[in-house]
Amino acid sequence: MQTILFHSTIFGPIHSRRLGSSLGVNLSPADGKICSFDCLYCEAGFNAQGPGTAGLPAKEEVARLLREKLAAMKEAGETLDVITFSGNGEPTLHPDFPAILDDTLRLRSEFFPQAKVSVLCNSTRLDRPEVVEALRRADNNIVKLDSAITATIRLLDRPNSPAFTAEKVIGELKQFAGTGIVQTMMLRGSFEGQAVDNTTETEIKALIEAYRAIAPREIMLYSIDRPTPATQLEKIPAEELRAIGARIQAETGITVQVN
Ligand code: SF4
Repeated sequence: MQTILFHSTIFGPIHSRRLGSSLGVNLSPADGKICSFDCLYCEAGFNAQGPGTAGLPAKEEVARLLREKLAAMKEAGETLDVITFSGNGEPTLHPDFPAILDDTLRLRSEFFPQAKVSVLCNSTRLDRPEVVEALRRADNNIVKLDSAITATIRLLDRPNSPAFTAEKVIGELKQFAGTGIVQTMMLRGSFEGQAVDNTTETEIKALIEAYRAIAPREIMLYSIDRPTPATQLEKIPAEELRAIGARIQAETGITVQVN
């Protein structure tokens, strides 16, 4: 099983295709994965590897480690484009996520005021007002929508909750009209004998309708970049991804970034 975990709470900076020079904040355990999805393409591997034994990092520890790292980077004359919440799972599952985000915004302003704070979020906790409010305070609130069709999104993202549907998440994503960035992983292949493909005409039409309804400030399309835990997945060629992005932009009027 693929298990590429981030073995620390603060990691990087790494160069991200989408975000530039990015310092990562991992609110999941350093030795395991905790997520409300179990995506076929997750770079941290499948949830079956378990949550480890280290537990979630405490709010105070995150702030201490982040302060230390930012101070060292500033001292060394390094640059920073973005602080990104990502890592071995879903950051909004941490019970102190809103307070940790606020600490991060404060530390950013103290050390690298020009840097952005981004959250990569899987959109499963948008029924919680405190999570929605916190995400609104981030500079880049990047929320996942991998398909607008329930059968496909369940196959691709494998939510823990049997109640998770595309309709529910699309409704909740409307809370970020004009401010959120909707991110969609495009791929095709198969898993356990079932075909999966979110690039078909039916899928793209449904996504276009969903993006129109959500009206985010931007759409990000990307495809597989690293080994995935499901081994029979195919990266969408850059040219095809660009063509899909151009169509979506033309039909929604929303800026589409293709990575
Ligand atoms: S939501 Fe993110 S962390 Fe969770 S399984 Fe999917 S890719 Fe992995």
